[in-house]
Amino acid sequence: MLKDLGIHKKGGVITERNPEYCTIRTRIPAGMITPEQLRGIADIAERYGADAVQMTVRQTIELPHMPPEQLDDISRDLSMNGTPLGAERDEVKNILACTGNQRCIFGNIDAIALAVEIDKRVFGKEMPVKLRIAVSGCPNACTSPMLNEIGITGKIEPIRVPGMCTGCGTCVEYCKEDAIAIKKGISVLDSSKCIDCGVCIRSCPYDLLQSSGPYYFITVGGSRGRHPKVGRELVAVRSSSAAVDVVEKVVSWVYRRAWSGRLLSDQLDDLQYEKFREEIRGQIPEGELFRPGVIPAEDISAGTGI
Ligand code: SF4
Ligand code: SF4
Ligand code: SF4
Repeated sequence: MLKDLGIHKKGGVITERNPEYCTIRTRIPAGMITPEQLRGIADIAERYGADAVQMTVRQTIELPHMPPEQLDDISRDLSMNGTPLGAERDEVKNILACTGNQRCIFGNIDAIALAVEIDKRVFGKEMPVKLRIAVSGCPNACTSPMLNEIGITGKIEPIRVPGMCTGCGTCVEYCKEDAIAIKKGISVLDSSKCIDCGVCIRSCPYDLLQSSGPYYFITVGGSRGRHPKVGRELVAVRSSSAAVDVVEKVVSWVYRRAWSGRLLSDQLDDLQYEKFREEIRGQIPEGELFRPGVIPAEDISAGTGI
């Protein structure tokens, strides 16, 4: 039977350089916190002797110089505040998200809602390795999803549909990747240069650039730190619920297969990642799998091409 090592050994409790104190990390998915919770954190920090708190790179808040002998009380107060103990060890850590399509003009997906849903499913799960998850609403990748063990990026593929292109060049101006050119008076897309940011789609005054809607591009095995690595493509799906399902499958696969003591990014080949990728693709319902270059007929007839 596993021995309960107590709150001192839980993720979110970090021994400081001066072992008389510890730092408490909180759980704040997507870094979203209400004014009331913020005031609550301020009260808790003051109550237990901190004169400041620190924002972390994973969008959470840390309370420094906390007294270890009062950990149970601090943990209880943080939980009642809706900002419980976070994660810091070999476990699923605070889920990152950018502003996404709720506020950002480039956003293709609701990154915050997706991060909150992922948090509900997998946050804090003990793992053989540290597992960081980040969501970005578009390929500008403000949360660096591809440098996380699991990254999700919202994309939209432009598809040139037949119609009277005037060759006005508006879409060419908007594309920062030089992926559109005017040839013989009409626009031509170069998919090898396109990163599916979707900006050009919104630019055409005649709706000649459409799409099959946003999709969720998922990568695995990225890492920051002393030897950064870019995650490898896993799969692209058409809905947020399918994206959450895929994340859960990846977490389960890492939990069952990965070895401790090495970053996930350093053991993907040993874990037969390519085989896993094929398995995952085989498990996704056909309607959820994103396939480039295809606009479902119902989307065009319903006029949902952007
Ligand atoms: S990643 Fe894209 S959607 Fe998210 S904040 Fe940056 S520009 Fe906006
Ligand atoms: S989606 Fe983005 S990268 Fe692709 S052609 Fe349009 S603007 Fe250029
Ligand atoms: S696709 Fe639209 S924006 Fe681009 S050149 Fe043709 S009419 Fe202009």
